[in-house]
Amino acid sequence: MLTKRGVADSVNAPRMKILIVGSGGREHALTWKLRESQLMTEIYCAPGNAGITQEAECLQVDLSRPSEILDLAAQLGVDLTVVGPEAPLVAGVVDEFERAGLTIIGPNKAAARLEGSKIFAKQFMQRHRIPTARFAVAENFDEAVKAVAFLGLPAVIKADGLAAGKGVVVARSQEEAEKTLDQFMRQKTLGAAGERLVIEECLSGEEMSFILLTDGRGSFPLPPTQDHKALLDGDQGPNTGGMGAYSDDAILGDSLRGDILRRVVAPTLGGMAAEGISYRGFLYCGLMLTEAGPRVLEYNVRLGDPEAQPIMMRLRSDLVELLLALGRTLGAMDAHWSPNPAVCVVLASKGYPGQPETGQVVTGCEAAEAVGGVKVFHANTRMENHQLLTSGGRVLGVTAVAEQLGAAIQRAYAAVGKIHFEGMQYRKDIGAKGLKHLSPGRKSERPRHRGGHSASPKL
Ligand code: AMP
Repeated sequence: MLTKRGVADSVNAPRMKILIVGSGGREHALTWKLRESQLMTEIYCAPGNAGITQEAECLQVDLSRPSEILDLAAQLGVDLTVVGPEAPLVAGVVDEFERAGLTIIGPNKAAARLEGSKIFAKQFMQRHRIPTARFAVAENFDEAVKAVAFLGLPAVIKADGLAAGKGVVVARSQEEAEKTLDQFMRQKTLGAAGERLVIEECLSGEEMSFILLTDGRGSFPLPPTQDHKALLDGDQGPNTGGMGAYSDDAILGDSLRGDILRRVVAPTLGGMAAEGISYRGFLYCGLMLTEAGPRVLEYNVRLGDPEAQPIMMRLRSDLVELLLALGRTLGAMDAHWSPNPAVCVVLASKGYPGQPETGQVVTGCEAAEAVGGVKVFHANTRMENHQLLTSGGRVLGVTAVAEQLGAAIQRAYAAVGKIHFEGMQYRKDIGAKGLKHLSPGRKSERPRHRGGHSASPKL
């Protein structure tokens, strides 16, 4: 158990035992931020990773079993549980906690279908006129081939269910499309997740992650971020879980922000409410900013990873207070954000996103953190015989904050230069797209993120 000195001892301070569920860079960032809270007295993470053990006591749990997570929280007597990844949410962990009367942050099973089923999400958007790509649902191979012919190439092929970042393929040729459909639907490479598909038109534009904290009535936008999904520089190569992200208010001007709130956020929250579904927690709208306006590519029912890392670096308010305001006083909360941009560069293992090599010795994390304004968030790491080892595809998220985006990028890469493990791969252009938002003409009118209000229009 890691406690915050002073808080537990003072007579009137509320005692807040906190459990973070998950094991990636996002959960490390959440744990790091929650640990700073004045309300925190004990902090746990399940299952966590080698970096998180520096900030919280890590305990084993099977993330696919909501009842196991509930048992752990009950045994520990935690007051607040925060769920990082989608799988426990889609499996209904929030419903289990609510039945047991325990406080947990995240949407319930019905609401989590926005991420758990792409077909549900697309049909929901259609019902509520939320702008998105044209699409068709395919129940078998022949229907899928017809849908590709109808929508044209390139075609975006999406598995209906959760597929750990492997369920979306942008097929540029007929051959690639049919190969993907064969793999998903006949060879069942994704299991049940790929038995039904969404086929959709390919959109072009810049992508943006617009994430909010909401209790279904009020909503609280977090600063805008951009993820880098492709493995290689210049958005080349296969899709990954995300090779880096940056957060800078300059991504989002006032009129675009208003457009997103009006055309995407309001009908999404209104649509959920109209269908009798209460949505509480983080809601991630993955957008394509097309010439015709923003289009929703996907919903996630949680914070993004690696978007959470720069977002948490910029948050100045007490995260526990913000989370406890859900369902109570969210609209009245005032969050403070650093105006400074933040950048997270993901260091991945050789072979990622296919078969990552693991068990490599990692060195240099302390030297990296000695670079000012840098925090190294761990993802797939473990300790063995006092050595830090890689244990999966995405290993570390080196995150830096600075007054200007260019300086934050420089800091992040200076810190990356201190870290070594065999086969380490990373993109060299994280944040570069953001620099073009900062042309001299735009710099003076650079927007400031306003996070303190229930910013969605009346529903
Ligand atoms: P998703 O999980 O649906 O966000 O898809 C993963 C990635 O695939 C996105 O971040 C985009 O880079 C790409 N993608 C998804 N849908 C489309 C689309 N309709 N047009 C172009 N690219 C897309």
